[in-house]
Amino acid sequence: MRVLITGAAGFLGSHLCDRFLAEGHEVIGMDNLITGNTDNIAHLAGRSDFTFIRYDVTHYIYIEGPVDAVLHFASPASPIDYLNYPIQTLKVGSLGTHNALGLAKAKGARFLLASTSEVYGDPLVHPQHEDYPGNVDAIGPRGVYDEAKRFAEAITMAYHRTHGVDTRIARIFNTYGPRMRLDDGRVVPNFIGQALRGEPLTVYGDGSQTRSFCYVSDLIEGIYRLLMSDYNLPVNIGNPSEMSILQFAELVNRLTANPAGIVFKDDLRIKGDPQTRQPDITRARAILGWEPVVDLPHGLEMTIAYFKERVR
Ligand code: UDP
Repeated sequence: MRVLITGAAGFLGSHLCDRFLAEGHEVIGMDNLITGNTDNIAHLAGRSDFTFIRYDVTHYIYIEGPVDAVLHFASPASPIDYLNYPIQTLKVGSLGTHNALGLAKAKGARFLLASTSEVYGDPLVHPQHEDYPGNVDAIGPRGVYDEAKRFAEAITMAYHRTHGVDTRIARIFNTYGPRMRLDDGRVVPNFIGQALRGEPLTVYGDGSQTRSFCYVSDLIEGIYRLLMSDYNLPVNIGNPSEMSILQFAELVNRLTANPAGIVFKDDLRIKGDPQTRQPDITRARAILGWEPVVDLPHGLEMTIAYFKERVR
């Protein structure tokens, strides 16, 4: 296949490039680099089966020749990033998804949308099953991301139903691993960076809010299987193993032997920060035969090793 990956220089996009190339496909990577970094794809430079185009997909996308699949992964994805780039986040989820779908339609390509657990907002149902419509505050600080992704899902289904585009929707839950940005503000790089510098870990609020962390290789496997499936409705991809942020902080401190402990930062918790989050992956198990295999301590060790080389 000849595959276009938007957001190719980002955390997930760059791992997807690696995976598709390893499977023998040709990859065109696109990124405007506002939150992505070419360091993540530097090892692919010079390969004849990989092309990188620096481009903002909120503008009309032109690709010469055939395209068999479009994977739309471009978007700021951490709360800090989408608060820094609210308009760009809304545009890449709306205009960017429209353009990527238009390209898929014109080329007769499959399309896969990187959606998010944020479509469930601060959920009132636990764990979150794909049929749960969510609890999102459109005008809250997280609304720019949540509503962009909800629009992206809506237009993806509309292109499927109206134009017959062969679409997929992956609802991606918290994912971690090498190539996350140390300064992206998310809890995994924040805590590991703090621990490696011997600083206390900053728990926002009382740390009773929960998350369920999926290692990147598991996530990529789920995405790959979803693209290769023929399933058009949304599929949760994430690790159901749930814990509180306080427990997570204690685990990071233990794995890094950080003696500095924990500080509670009430004021840094963003309004609408979901109190619970855990994927129901019944659908992914049934349709993709997929479930995560990397446990958190092992995944964190690989992530800590990566950040150790980069922390200052
Ligand atoms: N969080 C925290 N300390 C940090 C960064 C984040 O306690 O230094 C919390 C945050 O309030 C949220 C959870 O960790 O409840 C996960 O935050 P993240 O930014 O990773 O992404 P989210 O899952 O909220 O999209």
